[in-house]
Amino acid sequence: MRRLRRVKIIATLGPASMDRAVVAGLAKAGADVFRINMSHTDHAALGNYIRMIREIEEDLGRAIGVLVDLQGPKLRIGAFAEGSAHLRKGDSFVFDSDPAPGDAKRVRLPHPEILAALKVDDTILIDDGKIRLHVVEATPEWSSAVVDVAGRISNRKGVSLPDTEIPITSMTEKDRADLEAALKEGVDWVAISFVQRPEDVLEVKKLTQGRALVMAKIEKPQAIARLEEVIEVSDALMVARGDLGVELPLEKVPGLQKRINRSARRLGKPVVVATQMLESMILSPVPTRAEVSDVATAVFEGADAVMLSAESAAGQYPQDAVATMSRIAEEVETDTVYRGIINAQRADAPNPTAADAIAAAARDVAQTLGAAAICAWTDSGSTALRIARERPVSPILALSPKRDTARRLALVWGVHAVETRDASSVEDMVQRACGHARSEGFGDNHDRIAIVAGMPFGSPGATNMIRIALVGEGG
Ligand code: PEP
Repeated sequence: MRRLRRVKIIATLGPASMDRAVVAGLAKAGADVFRINMSHTDHAALGNYIRMIREIEEDLGRAIGVLVDLQGPKLRIGAFAEGSAHLRKGDSFVFDSDPAPGDAKRVRLPHPEILAALKVDDTILIDDGKIRLHVVEATPEWSSAVVDVAGRISNRKGVSLPDTEIPITSMTEKDRADLEAALKEGVDWVAISFVQRPEDVLEVKKLTQGRALVMAKIEKPQAIARLEEVIEVSDALMVARGDLGVELPLEKVPGLQKRINRSARRLGKPVVVATQMLESMILSPVPTRAEVSDVATAVFEGADAVMLSAESAAGQYPQDAVATMSRIAEEVETDTVYRGIINAQRADAPNPTAADAIAAAARDVAQTLGAAAICAWTDSGSTALRIARERPVSPILALSPKRDTARRLALVWGVHAVETRDASSVEDMVQRACGHARSEGFGDNHDRIAIVAGMPFGSPGATNMIRIALVGEGG
């Protein structure tokens, strides 16, 4: 089941996609990775999803990635005596720690550390930015704010603080429990919400201990301010445009998407573009022209993956949404201007290693020969990632002795990963690379492939050779 596109598709699972036949349909339509959102999933449902995905993976004979998205510290206000209150522009409104129900003058903010961190002039956004206030008086126990954008404020609505560095990590008690459950289930990727600093990512890496790769969701201005440092310590990035567009002016999101994409690509880290990509397909079988253009933009930018949220989790047309995304990607990738744009964004690897040099050479060799594939023998997946970083014209066939590696690579641009035992000799390395290229549908006897490997075999990090072969050498 070889895909005809390089960009990958992530489909979020939810009430619209709990049924095995629907999930199998999503995989067949083009989903490479399934996302499980822990804001809406308990541990029993998580286990069920993963069992189902693994069965489908077995049936399809193709590695599927599982991404668990942790909720993170979602801040919320308390409740109101009457369920809600109307705030008018210019009104004063107090956030405090009093558990008494709120009214049009005040409400509880049940996070003492946030009350202590608020400063005069900080913006407070309620309900995804529908209501906006700014702080005029700040004490450690309460803050008084003035309403800039009016609206009805109601029970337990979300709070965003774009100007305030929040003195808490991205991991709540719930996140820790969810992470432990996810690791027990053997998930491939874990996404962390509301990352502010590199330490937030390192904290999760300490917990995962390599059992899953860690993706930082970029959705806060504090993470943007330290973008390069956050990318350095993360295994991948998500442009989480939902919260990013709440915490920052909406018009800044497209530019940031480009910046995150380019910085991550330079550093060889996969990037996912997420949220509202085909939003209207929650209710309609056909997307808007603007949505098609949005997916196309992400593909032209060379993103590793594009993501569906409510479209596949709660929409009426989950399979159509995946198929639509797939069609847009295939069309863009064959557009005459695509290659020029992708090549123009290529940047040299910082502190290049021998493996980076081999990856760049493999790209050139494969392009010069019109190779049917670049076959990468890869243990941890890092060689495949380095080749993907080059965005070669030829598809990448990653061969790994580790099933986890093959599943993790499902997220990565241009990589088709297969689990197979390690090569034992140069002859074996060539023969089996050719055999897999043929059986996975990359080429036939007279097609050439470029094989990348490291000698001595079985020693991770030793990538040091390219061998050109005819697929027919696989016997
Ligand atoms: C987002 O904010 O864009 C996002 C992907 O996160 P979530 O769906 O968890 O809000």
